[in-house]
Amino acid sequence: MIQTNQTLSIDVGGYTAHPIPTGIFGLDGGAMFGTVPKVLWQKTNPADELNRIPMEARALLLISKDQKILIDTGNGADFQEKYGEAAGKKFQEIYSIDENGPTLLKSLNKYNLTADDITDVILTHFHFDHAGGATKFDNGKIVPTFKNATYYVQGSNLKNALNPNKREKASYLKANIEPLIEAKKLVILDSNRHPHLKNISFHISHGHTEGHQSVQIADDDTQLIYCGDLIPTSTHVRSSWVMGYDLHPGQLMEEKKQILQISQNKKTYYFFEHDPYCDMATVIPDKDEFKVEERYWMK
Ligand SMILES: [Zn+2]
Repeated sequence: MIQTNQTLSIDVGGYTAHPIPTGIFGLDGGAMFGTVPKVLWQKTNPADELNRIPMEARALLLISKDQKILIDTGNGADFQEKYGEAAGKKFQEIYSIDENGPTLLKSLNKYNLTADDITDVILTHFHFDHAGGATKFDNGKIVPTFKNATYYVQGSNLKNALNPNKREKASYLKANIEPLIEAKKLVILDSNRHPHLKNISFHISHGHTEGHQSVQIADDDTQLIYCGDLIPTSTHVRSSWVMGYDLHPGQLMEEKKQILQISQNKKTYYFFEHDPYCDMATVIPDKDEFKVEERYWMK
C-alpha cells in the first residue's frame, strides 16, 4: 500500500518504509551526467551560476515491530568540527549545503524518533554524501550518531574507503569511517545478506565504487530497491546516463541493467537517493533498456 498524502509510506517485507530527506546540496551538473550534453540534462535539472544542480541526500527508514533500520545518512553536520575548520568551511561552500531545510534528525523526529531509537544503519558505501550523517561531533570527539545502532557496510568498500585512490580521495573522509570502527559498531559484510536484516538483501556492484551495495527489501508481491549511487536519480534509469564520478562507467551500465531487470519478477519500486524531484519510481521495458513508468513523491 502506498500513501502519498503528507508522508509517503510503503509496506514491504514486514516493514513500513518512509523517505527521510536529509537536506539539499549542490553537485556539478556535468559530473552528475557524465557524457550527456548539458543541452539535454539542463531541461530536467537546471543548474545554478556555478553549474551546480540541486541534489537530495535521501535516506530510507524501515520500521518493524523490533527494528528501526536506516539506509544511508546523508551529508551530516558539524563539518568544521569533523573535517577541520578551513576544510569544513570549504566543504560547505563547494557543495552548497543547505542547513535550513530538513535534516536527518528533523526528518526522523517527524516519525517521533530520535537518533537513539535507530537499531541498524545500512551504508551503501562510505562516500561523504551517504555516510556523513553516520558520525557526529560530541563533547570534543567524533562518535557514531546512532549510539544504539549496528552499522553495516561491505568489506570491499571499507578497504577501498580507508585507502582511496586519488580520484576518490575527496569523497572518502576518515571522520565518517574510523569512529564507527573504534566504537566497534561496524559489521563488515562479505555476502549479500545478514541474519539480523530479515527480507533484506544486497546487490553488490563495483562500477560506481568498489563494494557499493544497493538494498533490496522484498516480500512475495512487492519489492523496494534503494539504489544508492547505482541509479542516483530517476533520470539515470536510462542506460547511458551515467555519472562522471563513476569509476567504471561500462561496468556500471551492465550492473544497472541487471538491477532494472528485477522489475520483471514482481511489483518493484526503485528508490532514488539523490533525485530532488521524486522519491521513487516504477520502470517498464523500452526497446533494449528501461524507462520510468510512474514517479512518486511525498511533497
Ligand atoms: Zn558515491
